[in-house]
Amino acid sequence: MKITGIHSHVLQYDLPEELGYSQQYYAKRTAHLIEVETDEGVTGWGECFGPGNIALANKGIIEKVIQPMALGHDPLDRDVIWHKVYNLTRDHGQKGMMLQSLSGVDIALWDIAGKVAGMPISKLIGGTHRDRVPVYGYGMMLRPENAQSLADRFTDEAAEIKSAGFTATKMKVGLGPADDVKLVEAVRRGVGDGFRFMVDANHCYTTSDAFFVGHALEELGVYWFEEPVAPEDLDGYRELRAGLRVNISGGEGEFTRWGWRHLLEGRCLDIAQPEVCALGGISEYLKVLALAHTHFTPVINHVWGSAIAVATNLHLLAAMPPLPGGLHPWEPMLEFDTTDNKFRDDLLVEPLNIQAQVAKSGGYVAIPKGPGLGVEPERSFLQKFAINT
Ligand code: CA
Repeated sequence: MKITGIHSHVLQYDLPEELGYSQQYYAKRTAHLIEVETDEGVTGWGECFGPGNIALANKGIIEKVIQPMALGHDPLDRDVIWHKVYNLTRDHGQKGMMLQSLSGVDIALWDIAGKVAGMPISKLIGGTHRDRVPVYGYGMMLRPENAQSLADRFTDEAAEIKSAGFTATKMKVGLGPADDVKLVEAVRRGVGDGFRFMVDANHCYTTSDAFFVGHALEELGVYWFEEPVAPEDLDGYRELRAGLRVNISGGEGEFTRWGWRHLLEGRCLDIAQPEVCALGGISEYLKVLALAHTHFTPVINHVWGSAIAVATNLHLLAAMPPLPGGLHPWEPMLEFDTTDNKFRDDLLVEPLNIQAQVAKSGGYVAIPKGPGLGVEPERSFLQKFAINT
């Protein structure tokens, strides 16, 4: 079997309302899907992390840089292709957009491998340690409005996510330390005592501001404090982890085994959040997972994007070994965006119906059982939302 083409589909639509995180507000939803074609008619699908104009730049990398290196290769030689691309582009991008682009291609090659073997990716990796995973629903995005009105909105939204059946929830902060603590108090009011929730700063704080907010999170019983400081600031991470009782999480902005090595050896994280659609795809994710577990650091995947990314992560979460094991082991969760996302809800020929599964099962979602990713995008949907450049 030979690879005959790699196509990049950048999809976009206008969101019904502007949403934000600590770095920016955004008005459009983007998804970036990768399609790998073969001479035997088997097609694989993958996804690249990276919104908006980043996706358009990655499309150029995929079609102009990676495709010529991969054409003619047997798609089952995914590790060979990965290292060929990585080694030939090492001087131009050991992190960032080069790796995001390679990730989507690698995921599509795993989809092909599963389809050829006639088994789901979770089985190909080594089997399912669990046939369903708990789901946390994130929401409480920033909006361009004042802090008091945002806090009121967060109280209501948190209560809605809880009543929709999700096992936990996650909020954004980023208005500044004092207002951010008020937002967290508002979410605690919304979910009540005892319900698990997390706080995502998207690296907006200095270390001292992160300590100020982190001490408030301890008092409010927050489960984790995500990306408190810049991803490059490993010393800041180390100091926060040693000095705060709240779990420190992060890593969505880190790439490859070589990048993750420093985060893990530096004892920077209580919970690691690798992003498979950015760090190098499934092949590299499995190496990062092994490295995290080597350091006995639990992993809860970062998930962003379309139903392709959600399906990819369901297989990875199913195949994740228990750490460290036991009668009532620590369990990973699926990250799920509760805000408007057609690319997750309406993309597939047979939708995953995550929200309906969560409502029905008390917060759980099943692992797709078909070969490869076990999901297929609807062609007419791709055509409808593709942006032509
Ligand atoms: Ca995050």
